[in-house]
Amino acid sequence: MMTTFDIEQLQTELDQKNPRVILKKALELFDNIAISFSGAEDVVLIDMALAIRKDIQVFSLDTGRLHPETYRFMEKVRKHYQIDIELLTPDRDVLDSFVKKKGLFSFYEDGHQECCGIRKVEPLKRKLAHLDAWITGQRKDQSLDTRQDIPEVQIDTAFSTAEHQLVKFNPLLNWSSAQVWDYIEAYQVPYNELHEKGFISIGCEPCTRAVLPNQHERSGRWWWEAGAKKECGLHAGNLKK
Ligand code: SF4
Repeated sequence: MMTTFDIEQLQTELDQKNPRVILKKALELFDNIAISFSGAEDVVLIDMALAIRKDIQVFSLDTGRLHPETYRFMEKVRKHYQIDIELLTPDRDVLDSFVKKKGLFSFYEDGHQECCGIRKVEPLKRKLAHLDAWITGQRKDQSLDTRQDIPEVQIDTAFSTAEHQLVKFNPLLNWSSAQVWDYIEAYQVPYNELHEKGFISIGCEPCTRAVLPNQHERSGRWWWEAGAKKECGLHAGNLKK
């Protein structure tokens, strides 16, 4: 198990490095590591990782509330790369009782945290308990409120426990949206068709909307809430206390 000191050394080594270098290091250091694929443009991570190692683990959160286009996209990615994508689903009993009690759209009234907690965070927690490290598509330019301070590699304080330390790599951290799209175009990487309909940051259907030109991408997510809260709990460590 890596120590905090090792992580600091590793962060120094990976500081400002390009995504391929960070991914390569992550895949060299950890066997039990997986890519979190959100169904948006971070498919770039899968494309890059497969050039480094063929046996990558990929998972995605199937909240049950994704756009049909996102499900079609996941299938496209699965076939294009000939990979398994493990779909993580919410606990059936907890979800049933939540929906029975609060209906299907409670997030518009009392915030997204409870629904995201059940549909995203708990299934993710279950998965991460069995991994030593994970790779995310987080980028600084996705949020001026919550993603400016994230490093290339970190101990995941949100999902580590006293018995189980989890490491998180953020290879696309310093790439802009434009760089991601340059890569998608150059390497003919599959993308979610919603991007052609004005969607930039794509999450669940009821909580995502298209944005206008020059609007920030995150303004299309949970638009009824303040910017500083726009994390669904997957990256809870980004939220300022
Ligand atoms: Fe629920 Fe919306 Fe969060 Fe999806 S993004 S889990 S629908 S609150």
